[in-house]
Amino acid sequence: MVEPLFCNLNNRATFYRYISSLFSVCTYFIVEEDKLIIIDPSKLDKNVYDWLNKHDGLNIIIYITHEHFDHHYNANELLNLKNSFLYLPSESFGESLRNPKKNLSYYYNDPIQTITKSTIDNSCLKVIKTPGHSEESYCFVYDNIIFGGDTIIDKKYLVFKLPGGNKLNFGYSVEYLKNNINLKSIVLPGHGDYFCFDKWVI
Ligand SMILES: [Zn+2]
Repeated sequence: MVEPLFCNLNNRATFYRYISSLFSVCTYFIVEEDKLIIIDPSKLDKNVYDWLNKHDGLNIIIYITHEHFDHHYNANELLNLKNSFLYLPSESFGESLRNPKKNLSYYYNDPIQTITKSTIDNSCLKVIKTPGHSEESYCFVYDNIIFGGDTIIDKKYLVFKLPGGNKLNFGYSVEYLKNNINLKSIVLPGHGDYFCFDKWVI
């Protein structure tokens, strides 16, 4: 089920969330004017595609918080829809999305190669690179809302032991976020419920 989270933000945007059956990844949707922004398209069920059909005609822009396959499991299906694009922050990130060993899907016997052909250059979200959970981790900011991926996430879900994980880099990323993000922001994490950023950093 795609559930509304925040309605009519700044009189222009509505946020939605879907919790995937794949590791309970949270997929988020922002409907704003002629755009439908999708953050972390995990494994999506038929209800989600029916919901997307109702928004036919919008430009779809996909953001992925990091390379791990559970956060872009259905990106290819979405990129096959018309007017659908991927925001790719770097070429090395694209390489990790396409490589089943780098995105870890190979080790789950379910190799995923996310196609990175239809991309856009200009981001509609503020993009912050936050290595630590993985080499290619990013947070995305929309006003006072942060998409935290597996970086800004309830500490019980924090993982550094996967390839590319690095606790020292995570510390630098948190320091950067603390100094550049409004502490009263709401975090929409990659797993689990949302929370206020200031509770997480203390
Ligand atoms: Zn991850």
